[in-house]
Amino acid sequence: MSPAHLWLTNAAPSAFPRRPQYGIMGLVGRLPGGGLAKGLAVTLRTMTRRSVTRQYPEVQPDLPPRSRGVIALLEENCTVCMLCARECPDWCIYIDSHKETLPAEGGGRARTRNVLDRFAIDFALCMYCGICIEVCPFDALFWSPEFEYAEYDIAELTHEKQRLREWMWTVPPPQAHDPAAEPPKEIAAAEKAAARAARTSRNGPPATGAPTTGTPTTGPPAGESPSDSPGGGRP
Ligand code: SF4
Ligand code: SF4
Repeated sequence: MSPAHLWLTNAAPSAFPRRPQYGIMGLVGRLPGGGLAKGLAVTLRTMTRRSVTRQYPEVQPDLPPRSRGVIALLEENCTVCMLCARECPDWCIYIDSHKETLPAEGGGRARTRNVLDRFAIDFALCMYCGICIEVCPFDALFWSPEFEYAEYDIAELTHEKQRLREWMWTVPPPQAHDPAAEPPKEIAAAEKAAARAARTSRNGPPATGAPTTGTPTTGPPAGESPSDSPGGGRP
C-alpha cells in the first residue's frame, strides 16, 4: 500500500466531509441497501434514454469534410523548398532530392531545378497540427478526412510519396466562395486579357504608323460595353 493510500485511509472523516444529500435520494441513500437502490435507479434511467454510441465500423462516422484524417501530397506542386520539414514540430517529414540541370534554350543560361526523390510522413509521430499544410507556399499538401489506415506494424505508418499521392483522390473539393464576397481581381484581369486577345485576333495586329484618329470600323466584342474596351467611353 502506497504512503498516499495509507494517508487517505487513515485520514480523519472531517478531512473529507461528505456532501449532504437532500430529497428522496438522500433519504434512500441513508437506508440499509440504499446505495444499491440508487445505483439501480441510475441504470434504469439511462436504459430508457436514446443511445448516442455509433456502431463503428458497421456505421461510418459522419465527419465534417475538412476533418484532419491524413495528409495528402500533390507531388507536381512540390518544389522541394523544405519549409514543411523545417517547420514540423515533430520532425516527422523526410525529404530527399537532387538537382537537375536543364539545357539552355534560345541562347539563355542552363537552369537547375530540384527533383523530389523521397517525401515521407511518419504518422506514428505526427500530431496533426497542420503546420506543414499551412506553411507550404505551393499548395502541395492537403488534409484528407480518411482515417482508416491503422497498422499492426508501426513502421507501416510511414507513408512514402506514392501513398501520400493516393490520398489526394480523397481530398474534398475546396469550399465554395461566399456569394456575397468581392470577386477575385485575377478573374477580372483574365477576362480583360481574353477580350483583348479576341479583339486582336479579329482585327489583326495594329498597323505601324496607322492614324490614331478617325471613326473605328469595328465595335467592342459582343457582350462588352464600350466603357469596357480600351479607350472606350472616352471622348
Ligand atoms: S501535421 Fe504537424 S506534426 Fe504532422 S507532419 Fe504536419 S507539421 Fe508535422
Ligand atoms: S513546403 Fe510544400 S513545396 Fe515545400 S517541400 Fe514542403 S510540400 Fe514541397
